[in-house]
Amino acid sequence: MRASPATARRVGFAKPRRCTRCLLRPRGALHPPRVPESFDAVFVGSSFASSFFLAGWLERAPAHARALVIEAGPRRPHAWRLAQRKDVLGWRDDHGLYENATPDKPWITHVELGGNSNCWWACTPRLAPEDFELHTRYGQAVDWPLSYAELEPHYVRAERMLGVAGADDHPICPRSAPFPLPPHRLSAPDEALARAFPGLLTPQPCARPSVATPKRPRCCASGVCELCPIDSKFTVQNELAHLFEDSRVTLWTDARCEGLDVQGDVVRGVHVRREGREELVRGELVAIGANAIFNPWILARSGLDHPELGRGLHEQVGIDVIVDLHDMDAFGGSTSITGHLYALYLGERRRDRAGALIEVWNVPMLRMEPGRYRHRVKLKAVIEDVRGEGRVDVNPDDPSRPRVRHGGRSAWTERAIARLEDDLQPVFDALPVERVRIGEPLPTEAHAVGSTPMGNDPETSVIDRDLVHHRVRNLFVLGAGAFPCATPANPTLTLAALSLRAAQEAFA
Ligand SMILES: Cc1cc2nc3c(=O)[nH]c(=O)nc-3n(C[C@H](O)[C@H](O)[C@H](O)COP(=O)(O)OP(=O)(O)OC[C@H]3O[C@@H](n4cnc5c(N)ncnc54)[C@H](O)[C@@H]3O)c2cc1C
Ligand code: SF4
Repeated sequence: MRASPATARRVGFAKPRRCTRCLLRPRGALHPPRVPESFDAVFVGSSFASSFFLAGWLERAPAHARALVIEAGPRRPHAWRLAQRKDVLGWRDDHGLYENATPDKPWITHVELGGNSNCWWACTPRLAPEDFELHTRYGQAVDWPLSYAELEPHYVRAERMLGVAGADDHPICPRSAPFPLPPHRLSAPDEALARAFPGLLTPQPCARPSVATPKRPRCCASGVCELCPIDSKFTVQNELAHLFEDSRVTLWTDARCEGLDVQGDVVRGVHVRREGREELVRGELVAIGANAIFNPWILARSGLDHPELGRGLHEQVGIDVIVDLHDMDAFGGSTSITGHLYALYLGERRRDRAGALIEVWNVPMLRMEPGRYRHRVKLKAVIEDVRGEGRVDVNPDDPSRPRVRHGGRSAWTERAIARLEDDLQPVFDALPVERVRIGEPLPTEAHAVGSTPMGNDPETSVIDRDLVHHRVRNLFVLGAGAFPCATPANPTLTLAALSLRAAQEAFA
């Protein structure tokens, strides 16, 4: 609904805005609402989840097809980000994007073209095959409604789009095709761990290129990847801008989806707020990829209540382990995180406590003693968790924002945290350790998952294995909200592969 000029003045608007169609200031009554625009497909969000799905849609859509991408934030080029360095990490919950009912547990969400691809670190491991069968194998969490083998071809395609560097003989995740780029050079601590744990240490697969690609320079290991100074890591803007320039695609930035027009079991369109007013856009198909915080809020505002909707928001737990080394130089690898150690990830231990992926960092963490500057390495344990009592819902005091509540960590994960020092002992034994400091759990990994879970049973899941809403069959709910649990591997490659798979299943 649009306010009359009188109403607008009453609620404090300075003046009616110019009409965006005729560019005149309206006299008297404002123009009537626009006739709804119609598109074949409407995509909400412009980051990994939506862009990879859009790429799959464009591969198959005819020349006359029309898609609309609705992005809540602005377009900010890389040069702008460099100039604004200080503010660039500022789009956190304290900016009022959502109400955080558990403020000691922050999440990070960048509302802008390309979303969190602008600030991510570009680590792109696959899930391990056994991650998809945690319940069957170890009686924990629930099984995923699809297997590693079913997702594998889509992992390959996602890795090509991201330009992932990695070692083809990956010990844990079997591959049907080589990585697009060769692996990064390991550091001396990586090499020592590889000798001590044969078959369990691999160069970290990452979207930080090991060689120059047509669009991006080679990663130079500066280790400040949240804002890569040379635009080397993958972002939606540096690698997928062509999607938004396609003649079939219209992109609206600064346009916020505030709900869906659901009639019966069909979604007919999207309510969008832009230029200060709300409008309805029609779409034959709607795909929301606004992440695990905003997707459930959009669904809840659209009357699509479900007992599992918004429940179970959770993520992995990161713990930094700083190791001072006797006589070994760290920081000799060719990117910011060089090694992935699977020694605490797999197998029967997961029956008792959560698995952990150990990252070997390759950033300068200088020691002050002369001659010892590089004798320090950071290992990071990334520990998995399962859906619990976390929740996203519509903020009752301000329905224009989600309310987010962290439900605490599971006992399974707490046991892994409590045992971490003991479990890491063989890792320390493999290095010339002088001193070790194990940190507290970090406030956030920025890997929100689990709030719109996928599954085969409509009673216990919101969407099916093809990311289609169980009831509204022309509605896709993309992103890591679909994950039934937060495995130790970072989520983004998997959510991108799921988007590609969903597009293939829907449009093939
Ligand atoms: C600092 C940092 C480092 C990270 N490093 C890694 C890493 O190394 N590896 C990894 O796998 N993951 C990493 N992540 C996580 C990764 O960024 C996310 O998994 C990924 O971005 C999720 O993609 P997405 O498309 O689902 O959502 P997002 O990237 O969050 O994008 C959501 C999009 O929707 C838009 N949007 C939101 N609400 C609306 C609305 N109402 N209407 C319209 N548009 C809307 C947003 O503006 C945004 O464009 C990192 C995250 C952070 C913050
Ligand atoms: S290590 Fe440096 S060059 Fe490589 S992606 Fe990170 S910031 Fe960019």
